[in-house]
Amino acid sequence: MRGHGDTALPDSTAKPPETLDFSAPQFDSRARLRDSGLIYAVVVLCAIATIWAAIYFRLLREYEQAETTAYQQTTDLAVGNAEIARRNLDAIDQALLFTRAAYLRNPTDFDLGRLAALAPGSGAAHMGWMDAAGILRASTDSGVAWPTPVDAAMLAELARPGPDRLLLSGPTRDLGAHAWSLNAIRRITGPDGQPDGFLVASLPSSLLTQFHAAMGVDGAITLVVGPNGLVVARDPLTEGGIGVPYTGADAALVLAPETTAGTLRRLNAGGSTSRLISFRRVPQYGLTIMAGLPEAAVFAGFRQHRLQTTGLGVVLTVLISAAALIMLRQHQRLAASREVLEVTLQSIDQGILMIDAAGNMPVMNRRLAELLDIPDSLLDTMPSFMQLVQWQFDNNEFGPREQAPKTIIAQLAAGVPIIDNEVMERTRPNGQVLEVRTALLRRGGAVRTFTDVTDRHRTEAALAAARDAAETAGRARSEFLAVMSHEIRTPMNGIIGVAGLLLDMRLGATEQHYVRIVMESGQHLLQLINDILDFSRLDAGRLDLEETPFDIAAVVRGTIELLSQQARAKGLSLHAEIGEDVPRGVVGDPHRLRQVLLNLISNGLKFTHEGGVRVAVSRIRSEPDGVRLNITVSDTGIGIPKEALGRLFDEFTQVDNSISRRFGGSGLGLAISRRLIERMGGSIGVESTEGEGSRFSFDVLLGNPSGELPAVMATLRPIVPPPAGAPAALPPPRPPSPAP
Ligand code: ADP
Repeated sequence: MRGHGDTALPDSTAKPPETLDFSAPQFDSRARLRDSGLIYAVVVLCAIATIWAAIYFRLLREYEQAETTAYQQTTDLAVGNAEIARRNLDAIDQALLFTRAAYLRNPTDFDLGRLAALAPGSGAAHMGWMDAAGILRASTDSGVAWPTPVDAAMLAELARPGPDRLLLSGPTRDLGAHAWSLNAIRRITGPDGQPDGFLVASLPSSLLTQFHAAMGVDGAITLVVGPNGLVVARDPLTEGGIGVPYTGADAALVLAPETTAGTLRRLNAGGSTSRLISFRRVPQYGLTIMAGLPEAAVFAGFRQHRLQTTGLGVVLTVLISAAALIMLRQHQRLAASREVLEVTLQSIDQGILMIDAAGNMPVMNRRLAELLDIPDSLLDTMPSFMQLVQWQFDNNEFGPREQAPKTIIAQLAAGVPIIDNEVMERTRPNGQVLEVRTALLRRGGAVRTFTDVTDRHRTEAALAAARDAAETAGRARSEFLAVMSHEIRTPMNGIIGVAGLLLDMRLGATEQHYVRIVMESGQHLLQLINDILDFSRLDAGRLDLEETPFDIAAVVRGTIELLSQQARAKGLSLHAEIGEDVPRGVVGDPHRLRQVLLNLISNGLKFTHEGGVRVAVSRIRSEPDGVRLNITVSDTGIGIPKEALGRLFDEFTQVDNSISRRFGGSGLGLAISRRLIERMGGSIGVESTEGEGSRFSFDVLLGNPSGELPAVMATLRPIVPPPAGAPAALPPPRPPSPAP
């Protein structure tokens, strides 16, 4: 492992993070649990439970507070009313006692009205005097019928000897008024110990609930139950609420003489709590004062808040659940992609290593350990990157220590990884070749892949050797062909020359015919040899083009002239059109250009039986290196089948072998033309319709001549025109191409 560049990662002595499971692409139960999201769901459920617990305890506290406050209020009301009622009754009793004392001092001269006016505390009540028989003798409320019927049973009880005490009776509804009254009665005992009459004070029942009226607590009810078990006072007053026996479910408790105070909840018949009640007894008058608040009023605020809080709880639960669901899905997707990643990491053929910013290796696959021969004993220690490099260095992974690369030495000296984006190859001591690619991560650290390219290297080396061998063999073949062709050309020229000489001699018709066959066959053979020679030279890249100034129009016209006799012999037309903007003088290889033209035109003539061949030269554009020209050779011949068009310019290709037998040819002409044109910086193409004709078109880049054009440009070597009247069975020989 070797790094270049100067990207240094900070050293860290921090404990390396958990490394991926190294032994196999499988997951332990903890990872499974983590990936299933169960822990996650439990955490969310706990959060929701905590929210609801908090809501519950908070509401419970509020409920208790509301209840405590309500009991406080009812207790205050009960205590206050009891106190005021007792004081009022004490005052009335004082007035009765005062009046009775005056009567006893002077019974014969008893003036109730005067005395009652003098009596302290009597202002709150009317007073009356009854004789022992219970007949009213005097009243402070003169003119009005005494409203309070004092029943006989009560008088009898008062007449019975016993403790001298104040008795309360009633209540009685006042005539013509919606108010209620009570009677407070004291016995007058004569000198003989027998009852001598009664003093009665009639007091409004509202006197017992004065405190309630003064306090004005919303929704509160104060109820006073008299010694006879009847409701004697009530605030607020309701029809049928006074004068009736107190029959609440709690009556036994509230009215028990031994109970003096308390709080309770009174249940409705249905069982639901309806009222919170506090009570106080005023034992000396046998009264029980009760103050109550309806539960609905006590807990109205609480219930309102409970609704809001539980609503908030529901909203929070829904939000947390929705968020949790989304996150769970995300988590599951992540877990799935992590599984894919881990399985991929463990199963690919490359070694993979991630180095984090702290220099630890949080990700590493088994293939890496195999490729680098890292022992399990080292892996078990979860080594840092530098520890791995040190181990490799110690084990001569980078070659003998003294030959280790400088970057390795530098890294080990600095104690920090030196890593950069790079691709490199490293040969291990065992000959294995590794391709090491490093990609830096944006947040620090890098990912490094190790590929075993040993086989690829071997194959490449074998391929290179094979290519060299093939090139050598190819060169030898071209060399041989060139030499052989040259060697054959010399005797062939001899044969053709001698045949020419023989034709000039006086020969009989038969001899002349034979000699002509010898000459034409020789010319054909020579053309074939020239083609093979050209092709092998082009193939070996050993054909050099000339750079000569020449007149393109002259070359085209010269070629046409050369073939015009052949055209005439077949009764075909043959012309050339040269565009006006085609420059006169250009620089290039006129012989090779003519060779291409000769090939295309003679093919056209060869495969045309009616009509003719037309050559057109036009200028495409000027280019920095010269001018680009287009040359088109069109004929009205037999055309070329579509399926043959694609391979027409391949070497040794003929559309139809029977045609080749009919028309002759080697199948090399177009292949040579294409290569020559490509060498001239152009390309060639063909369009053809069977039975209508063909159109070969190519472009070439020809140089601009520097300075004046020479008067006579490129002299073309003389060409031996085919002899007139050659037999139709033999193809007209292709004019020889320039000598090598
Ligand atoms: P050859 O020396 O055999 O003519 P070429 O490479 O010049 O070789 O031509 C290859 C083949 O392409 C010919 O054999 C012929 O089948 C076809 N061909 C070439 N030019 C024409 C044309 N103008 N019309 C029809 N067929 C043609």
